[in-house]
Amino acid sequence: MLAERTSMTKEFELFDRMSEHEQVVFCNDSSTGLRAIIAIHDTTLGPALGGCRMQPYSSVEEALEDVLRLSKGMTYKCAAADVDFGGGKAVIIGDPKTDKSPELFRAFGQFVNSLGGRFYTGTDMGTTMDDFVHAMKETNFVNGLPEVYGGGGDSSIPTAAGVLYGIKATNQMLYGNDDLGQHIYAIQGLGKVGFKVASGLLEAGARIFVTDINQESLRAIEEVATKTTGNVQIVANEAIYSQEADIFVPCAFGGIINDATIPQFKVRAIVGSANNQLLDDRHGKLLRDKGILYAPDYIVNSGGLIQVADELYGINHERVLVKTKHIYDAIMEVYEEAANSGKTTEESANAMCEKRIADRGRRNSFYSAPAKPKRSFRNHS
Ligand code: NAD
Repeated sequence: MLAERTSMTKEFELFDRMSEHEQVVFCNDSSTGLRAIIAIHDTTLGPALGGCRMQPYSSVEEALEDVLRLSKGMTYKCAAADVDFGGGKAVIIGDPKTDKSPELFRAFGQFVNSLGGRFYTGTDMGTTMDDFVHAMKETNFVNGLPEVYGGGGDSSIPTAAGVLYGIKATNQMLYGNDDLGQHIYAIQGLGKVGFKVASGLLEAGARIFVTDINQESLRAIEEVATKTTGNVQIVANEAIYSQEADIFVPCAFGGIINDATIPQFKVRAIVGSANNQLLDDRHGKLLRDKGILYAPDYIVNSGGLIQVADELYGINHERVLVKTKHIYDAIMEVYEEAANSGKTTEESANAMCEKRIADRGRRNSFYSAPAKPKRSFRNHS
C-alpha cells in the first residue's frame, strides 16, 4: 500500500528524504563529466528559482543534502520577497577551479531546458556569470546574466538597498521613526554590499564603526565619509561585535550570531546581508531573550533575488528598486508578529512564508511548464 511504501524503510529511503520536494533530477552527462542534481522544492507561487552551486562534494549524499536544504530555503526566500517563483536549487559536483568547461555548462543548460520552465537558475557559490553565458546557449531559463547578455547585472545594488530598507524598518520599530541618520551602526564587511550600505548610512549623516580585512576598502570608506555629514571609525575585526552601537550590520560571512558573539553584543538590533547569520536556531532564541531584535537574513538580503525574478519582465533597474521597498513591509510584518506571538523573528518569518504559500493554494501548477521564456537565444548560437 502507498502508506507502507512511503514509510521510512531502507528500500524507499531516498523518496522519504525528498518527501518535502516535488521533483529531484539527477543529471549525468558522460561526455562532459557533468554530474549535477536539480531539486525543485515547491512551485505553488511559480516556477522554481534558485542558483547553481559548484562544489567538490565528497559524496552524492552530501550533494543531495545540500541541494534539498538550499532549495527549500529558496521557497521561503521567494515567498518572503513576494516574487512569482517557488524554490529550487542545483548543485554540480566538481571542483570549480579544475573541472569547469564550456561544454559542461552547455550540458547543464540542456538539463535545465528539459524541465521546460519548471526551474530557472543562475550563479551561486563556485559558478560565475560567464559559466551561464555557456548554459544560456541551451536554455532560456537562466537569470542573473551580465547586462551585455540582457541580464540585470550587479545584484549587490538592490541587495544593499534592501538592507537599508531593513534598517529603516528596524529604526521604526525601535525608535518610532525610520530615519537612518540619527543612529550608530557597526558594519562588518565592506564588500560589494557592505560598502554600499556604509556609504548610504554616511550619506544619511549616520555614525558608523566599520571593519574589514581589506585595507583598501577601509581607506575608500574614509574617503566617502569626507564627502558626507556622516562619521566613520575603523575598528579591529574582532572588536566589531562589542561596539556601543544601535545596530550591528553583518555583511561579510554567515554563522556570526553564536555563543561567542552574543555575550559581546551591546546593540539593540542586528540587520545585515550575510547569509545564514544564526549559527543555530537556538541563537535566535538567545537574541530574543537578550532583547536584541533580529531581522531575518533571508528577508533583509532578498534585493538581489527581487532583481533576478524581475528579469522576467525585462530589465528595469528603477522598477527593481521600487519592489525592493517591499522588504521594509515584510520586516515590519515579522517584527509585529513576533512581538504579538512571543516567537523569535526567524520563526515568525517562516510562519509568514508558510501562510503566504498556503493562502495561494495550488492555483498555479507548473508541472506542465507554462512559463514563458523571456529570450530566444536557444538554437541561435
Ligand atoms: P563580498 O565578498 O564582496 O564582501 C565580503 C567582505 O567581507 C569583503 O570586503 C571581505 O574582505 C570582508 N571580510 C571577510 N572576512 C572578514 C572578517 N573576518 N572581518 C571583516 N570583514 C571581512 O560579498 P558581498 O557580495 O558583499 O556579500 C556579503 C554577504 O552578503 C555574504 O554573506 C553574501 O553571501 C551575502 N549576500 C550577498 C548578496 C549580493 O547580492 N552580493 C545577496 C544576498 C546575500
